[in-house]
Amino acid sequence: MLKNCEVCGRVFAHPTRVLCEDCYNEVQAKYRAVKEYLQKNPGATVAEVAQAAETDVEVIYQFIREGRLSVVPKDAGLTCEICGRPITVGRICHNCRSELEGKAYKPPAEKDSDGSRVRYLDQIRRQR
Ligand SMILES: [Zn+2]
Ligand SMILES: [Zn+2]
Repeated sequence: MLKNCEVCGRVFAHPTRVLCEDCYNEVQAKYRAVKEYLQKNPGATVAEVAQAAETDVEVIYQFIREGRLSVVPKDAGLTCEICGRPITVGRICHNCRSELEGKAYKPPAEKDSDGSRVRYLDQIRRQR
């Protein structure tokens, strides 16, 4: 299945990835650098991590939102996307997660024109 890389737009084939091989490897390398730095410097800020990993703060926030970091920068400002409570990992808090998992959750009707909420719920479902 051919698709366009979300970063560079190049056409590539992969069943699950949204990035081409080059961009994927680049993100993986950044991710490792970010993760290692945070493990060694747990109190670091987003800006410090970005500098140490030679990456963009946006990339760090992306990793945080994806819940890929077990240690997050102290100023990550991570909050639950449902109730807004401060959290340290992932996108939704423990309470909301168990509520979501306790119910047969139906995605909202196709009112959202941008589709971002539908996509977000889709991601939660895939994580289970
Ligand atoms: Zn690419
Ligand atoms: Zn919550």
